[in-house]
Amino acid sequence: MPPEATLHAKVIEIDQRLRPLYRPPEEPPFTDPLDELVLTILSQNTNDRNRDLAFRRLRERFPSWEAVRDAPLDAVIEAIRPAGLAQTKGPRLQEVLRRITEREGRLTLDFLRTMPLEEARAWLTSLRGVGPKTAAIVLLFSLGRPAFPVDTHIHRVSKRLGLIGPKTSREAAHKVLEAIVPPERYVPFHLELIAHGRHLCRARRPRCTACPLLDLCPWGQQQSEAAHDEETKSTD
Ligand code: SF4
Repeated sequence: MPPEATLHAKVIEIDQRLRPLYRPPEEPPFTDPLDELVLTILSQNTNDRNRDLAFRRLRERFPSWEAVRDAPLDAVIEAIRPAGLAQTKGPRLQEVLRRITEREGRLTLDFLRTMPLEEARAWLTSLRGVGPKTAAIVLLFSLGRPAFPVDTHIHRVSKRLGLIGPKTSREAAHKVLEAIVPPERYVPFHLELIAHGRHLCRARRPRCTACPLLDLCPWGQQQSEAAHDEETKSTD
């Protein structure tokens, strides 16, 4: 892998090229950390629309997160059905709410605002069903803490661009990207890479010839050369 300073400069260049393309907000509309944690649990393996619908139904049917925690499991499962995997997410959600209450004496995550970052990350990931991505989302988007969440799009795009090694796991990518992305750009860069992964750098058939990052992307260049060789062979 190139040295960190080279990767840092490359991130800045990528950010500058993607910014006008996707125009992400510089700052997120900060949400309550507990709301964000619930939303993120609901978002696993579903799209934003179904996640939001399930979240709204929970909010409409229960007056508080305490009420969700103490409700009959069936009622929670029924409320979150639009998010899919309700039989798994329902018990997970209630367990997380119970664990927070047991540890803190009440249902809040506000204490994470002042806890040292690594301690806060470890606290969140010690909850069953909360991985490094969910923890980083809560830390960054609700608490404004410098954590960089890596989802499947970001993992794929970063790997293709050579920002992380070809064998770097999604979990390990959190730390690698945190070291090379300027913290003040975590929110917009995170959103830019996701948008890029959805629109151009898709898992299947990425649109490398339309991509403004092709000259920075070893994987894209390899694919283009292979396609070119194939074309030359078939016209010989
Ligand atoms: S050149 Fe291709 S692989 Fe590289 S970032 Fe662009 S779309 Fe993705």
